[in-house]
Amino acid sequence: MEKNDNINIVIFGAPGSGKGTQSAKLIDRYGLYHISTGELLRDHIKRDTELGRIANEYISKGQLIPDDLMIRILDDTLEREAKGKAGVVFDGFPRTIPQAEALKELLRKRGTDLHAVVGLEVPEDELVQRMIQRGKDTGRADDNPDTIKNRLKVYHDQTSPLREYYNKENKYIAINGTGIVDEIFNEIARGLEDKAGIKPRP
Ligand code: AMP
Repeated sequence: MEKNDNINIVIFGAPGSGKGTQSAKLIDRYGLYHISTGELLRDHIKRDTELGRIANEYISKGQLIPDDLMIRILDDTLEREAKGKAGVVFDGFPRTIPQAEALKELLRKRGTDLHAVVGLEVPEDELVQRMIQRGKDTGRADDNPDTIKNRLKVYHDQTSPLREYYNKENKYIAINGTGIVDEIFNEIARGLEDKAGIKPRP
């Protein structure tokens, strides 16, 4: 990660809101590095590492991995993978206020900052439908009705307060996350470029 001249964006939203799909488009248009904490943990589970075994205990119940562990993993990932990059799209992190405070500090100590938070807003019944469908399409283990219910509760209790947190910091860009994927992305790009002054890569 270069000092000062990079762009860091959080893609924020409930489970099933389309963070992964829109992240792929963000990294392409702005030349950024993608860090998805969910994908990172699923990769550890697949490889059956020690971290994977710990993470699976939480993920399978739809609970969050404890903040101190999650923050250490993110710090380590930034150190190993984000150096020399133009900036990062954080997907699935932060999910709690302590994680948001930690992100601020992790970026600050690297001489940079968070530039915008893109919030994908999708009604709850559509979130549930999308996750059920994704479970069928991909076999993702936590996309089952019981775990989905708990993930949505955890989102409301622990993650959704971040909307207000980033609103206060003037970083939150609300996006209607329903409809056609490319149209949603156009709205995101407009928000980032018009409101946050972020430029596409040349
Ligand atoms: P995701 O792919 O972002 O929906 O994440 C899947 C699961 O991984 C979540 O339901 C959590 O159990 C865990 N997880 C991902 N990111 C975090 C995070 N920032 N903090 C705590 N747990 C997380």
